[in-house]
Amino acid sequence: MYYSDQTIVFLNGRYINAKEATTSLYSQTMHYGNGVFEGIRSYTTPEGTSIFKAREHYERLLYSAKKMHIRLNYSSQELEGITYTLLKKNNLSNAYIRPLVYLNENMSLTPADGTNLFIAAWEWGSYLGNELQRVMLSSYQRPNPKSCYIDAKIAGHYTNSILAATEAKLSGFDEALLLDADGFVAEGSAANFFYEKEGVLFTPCKTNILPGITRATIFELADELGFSVKEQQFTPDVLKEADSAFFCGTAAEVAGIASLDNIPFKKQWEDSLGYIIQKGYKKLVTQKRKLTVA
Ligand code: PMP
Repeated sequence: MYYSDQTIVFLNGRYINAKEATTSLYSQTMHYGNGVFEGIRSYTTPEGTSIFKAREHYERLLYSAKKMHIRLNYSSQELEGITYTLLKKNNLSNAYIRPLVYLNENMSLTPADGTNLFIAAWEWGSYLGNELQRVMLSSYQRPNPKSCYIDAKIAGHYTNSILAATEAKLSGFDEALLLDADGFVAEGSAANFFYEKEGVLFTPCKTNILPGITRATIFELADELGFSVKEQQFTPDVLKEADSAFFCGTAAEVAGIASLDNIPFKKQWEDSLGYIIQKGYKKLVTQKRKLTVA
């Protein structure tokens, strides 16, 4: 699914066949999850292939590496250039791009000296699919921001996401909504959360979530569309009275939510602000220009 005989990946300065890319089983990333990564998308636009917010993603990768004391000797411009070359070599335009910074062999709990950079790309449909999501309130909390850098994209943090997403699927739902350590709504397993109430969009504050690049884009879109967005803490009970809700993230894009714990949101998705935002987002990423809404 992720690669074929022809796929080229970038590994430590070289573009090589995916099947020839190997790593050590003693890698610190393999044992302790100390690695950082990104999830990026490129789109076909009238001006050609465009990586959406490449700079922001690579700046976040550098930030994540720094927080974990991982030395990564690339600038965001260099990383962006490598990624365009990789897309070209694979003849990809609408693609999902996965840079991973992983570490060399080290079984002690200090960062390994050697850092590896792997970048792969493949065609990947919407991460949450195109159906409205049936969401459950997770029994898992997001990691406490005092226990780690929750705003960084660190491999090990995703064990929390895997537990929550798996619990949701095993319970017959599509996706999980997680609370933070204080009991306020935080985010999905790999996406940020917004809800609509009386014409206003609400979303959790940045402090206890991974504040996504898509989330920031939603703020820009809402501003252009004249919708107001409020960042605030809220408990899940307010969602019983909400008009609509959606997840957003690079992989998920904008995904409408049908219900939370089987309680449906009041508005039909097609009548919601999220639906307008979803259309605006698609337009923005594929047209490489500022949004104007008819
Ligand atoms: N929260 C979590 C936990 C995520 O993994 C992601 C995906 N990176 C997001 C939010 C959305 O972030 P972005 O919009 O930057 O993809």
